[in-house]
Amino acid sequence: MAKTAVVTGGSRGIGRAIAVKLAKDGFNVAIIFQGNEAKALETKALCENEGREARIYKCDVSNYQEAEEVCKTIQSDFGSIDVMVNNAGITRDGLLVRMKEEDFDAVINTNLKGCFNFTKCAGSIMLKQKAGRIVNISSVSGLLGNAGQANYSASKAGVIGLTKSSARELASRGITVNAVAPGYVQTDMTDVLSDKVKEALLGSIPLKRYGEVEDIANAVSFLVSDGASYITGQVLSVDGGMYM
Ligand code: NAP
Repeated sequence: MAKTAVVTGGSRGIGRAIAVKLAKDGFNVAIIFQGNEAKALETKALCENEGREARIYKCDVSNYQEAEEVCKTIQSDFGSIDVMVNNAGITRDGLLVRMKEEDFDAVINTNLKGCFNFTKCAGSIMLKQKAGRIVNISSVSGLLGNAGQANYSASKAGVIGLTKSSARELASRGITVNAVAPGYVQTDMTDVLSDKVKEALLGSIPLKRYGEVEDIANAVSFLVSDGASYITGQVLSVDGGMYM
């Protein structure tokens, strides 16, 4: 029987690429989105083209009750949750002294609490199965910090701490928990940056190119594969060498 992968933020960008890659790898895929149903349906069709079952679920990852309900529904629809990819994320950039409290809270609640919610709910299901893989999408900003992203960097650094603590707690039941830290990848999230900022970013990438969504999806695919069964609590940077 095919295993099941859950991808939050699977409607667009990096999450879509992860969902499609995992479908290619043979997983049935549960795609979580917040509001963009049309895009989520496109991802579903792309996964089905790979010959896999795919379903979409609307859920605000920052809401614990919604996360718990959706995990239960996915388990009953597919029979198991074998892979959990916490990818949903937002930015609300601004300099620290001007940052609004609600922009700090929104980013922490989506990026960090959302990751906690799904790690807890999917992790409980995996504990009973005595198997599972969790991959959390952090960021180079969580490792290096970034001016104008105090909220985002804090959320992504928090994701790394959450990854390591959950890896230690879940290891004895054969569950691995790792993080992937992308650098700059062209998606809706980064489209809003000015050309000047994009150029400056390119200058800071040793491999001299922006990341593609597939670069991140390939790293996730490896971390959930049999070949990565002895890797847990790690942060894999996929950033063209920005952080080394
Ligand atoms: P994106 O294109 O803006 O897509 C964001 C995704 O997250 C969408 O699927 C969106 O759903 C979903 N989402 C946002 N808030 C949500 C919520 N409260 N509940 C459920 N889903 C929610 O972003 P991306 O660039 O692909 O980024 C994906 C992940 O990679 C994020 O965690 C981001 O921080 C991280 N990352 C990105 C980059 C980069 O350069 N792009 C670099 C480092 C790390 P809807 O479509 O329904 O709105």
